[in-house]
Amino acid sequence: MCQSYRKPCACGQHTAELFFGKMVLDEAAVRGVYCPECSSTVDLDARSMVEDNGWLLDLDVEVLEAFAPRMDMTPDSVTAEKVFDEDYVTWVGFSPEDNVQRSRERAEIEKRTAGDVKSHFEALKRWALEREKRFYDEGWRKALRKKAAYGG
Ligand SMILES: [Zn+2]
Repeated sequence: MCQSYRKPCACGQHTAELFFGKMVLDEAAVRGVYCPECSSTVDLDARSMVEDNGWLLDLDVEVLEAFAPRMDMTPDSVTAEKVFDEDYVTWVGFSPEDNVQRSRERAEIEKRTAGDVKSHFEALKRWALEREKRFYDEGWRKALRKKAAYGG
């Protein structure tokens, strides 16, 4: 079960897929999304925005403040960064377009290893490890956080 919310970025070239964890917030909390191409056109607001690898997610501070108690935060300490890092509003997967990218890569592996169960399984396993490392190397927040949770 994964209820996702697809939000095109300001320039319309990309679409971020968002997920609202722990069933507290919904799309009313999202003011806008900026891809690396259009994020340079806006001024970074440290309170309402969270930056992730060139992408910006802009949240509605009034909504965050209203829901702060349900997120174990106080209205004056809540920030988009905290909300994102606690998964109340986050990407589906490791990056805004991870979900789409993942399906495409998976389909490619299936095509390449069709009819060979063992190599299909091996390829999927290798791919899962490699892509996690790739997101980590690229510096995506969720991949870095996951690594930190392992103590690595
Ligand atoms: Zn854009």
